[in-house]
Amino acid sequence: MHELSLVTEVYRTARRAVDARGPHRIEVVRLAVGELSAVEPALLAFAWEAVTAGTPDEGSRLEVDFRPARQTCTGCGASPERAVGSWLRVCGACGGLLSVEGGDELDVVSVTFEDPAAEEAAEETAEEAADDEADDGTGGPPSSAGS
Ligand SMILES: [Zn+2]
Repeated sequence: MHELSLVTEVYRTARRAVDARGPHRIEVVRLAVGELSAVEPALLAFAWEAVTAGTPDEGSRLEVDFRPARQTCTGCGASPERAVGSWLRVCGACGGLLSVEGGDELDVVSVTFEDPAAEEAAEETAEEAADDEADDGTGGPPSSAGS
């Protein structure tokens, strides 16, 4: 549920940014997510769908820009790669303490919105893309199939 409240806030921020430029629909929002931010990137896309459902921005996407943390040994200056799933903050070479930088980002990087001048063309392209996806048979949820 942490992701849902985060995404609600991200959506408000993106919506305000787009509102300032006119009544456009959001297409893509890019969010920088640091690996130490305690956010599960996979859950953000689902939360985004839930938050934008029933709004003019339904069908837009939230893209995650994953930002790893960097760790450096305060003793010998080595920058060891972190073993997946472990935050052992001790240098493998000298046993010194590792200092960790970055990885706590949680920022909206960019917001892409529909260009009203190209609105009709954009909508046609979107429909074609949706058809292509349906043909893939990737097992997504059934889209609003007519008839
Ligand atoms: Zn070291």
